Amino acid sequence: MSLKTVYDADNIFAKIIKGVIPCVKIAETGDTLAFMDVFPQSEGHCLVVHKNIQATNLLDINADDLTVLMNAVQRIAAGVNDGLEPDGIRIAQFNGAPAGQTVFHLHFHIIPVYEGRALASHASGGPADTAILEPTAAKIRAAL
Ligand code: 5GP
Repeated sequence: MSLKTVYDADNIFAKIIKGVIPCVKIAETGDTLAFMDVFPQSEGHCLVVHKNIQATNLLDINADDLTVLMNAVQRIAAGVNDGLEPDGIRIAQFNGAPAGQTVFHLHFHIIPVYEGRALASHASGGPADTAILEPTAAKIRAAL
């Protein structure tokens, strides 16, 4: 299997970026969007994407656009840290289905880690309700 795949413009994050399907939004700029993961591995698990680049994975994006995206990742991670006060934060990013990628629009996971609380499995279980995700997103937003 190759990582040099054709970008599918109908992938779920492309639809979220277009507003075709909803998300619990944390922050948006002209270039980036941060939103809650609907199958969270921990309280505050969120995702950051570049809105204007059709990149399937990390190998599809140029250095300048990646800088913009990583700046957003760092900013949102700081908001997660200040708003939720986890004991640690994991930043994750998967390239290709064999590596665990399930949505093929480049994205970074921000996963707060709390001592004594195990992380849920990646992209599994039932979807979290907006009513559960929104108060956590509000805490992150307030800390940005
Ligand atoms: P990947 O497996 O590609 O690294 O990560 C994709 C992430 O997207 C998973 O953590 C999964 O829980 C999340 N996800 C899948 N479908 C949706 C969705 O419709 N909305 C949101 N907000 N997250 C999703």
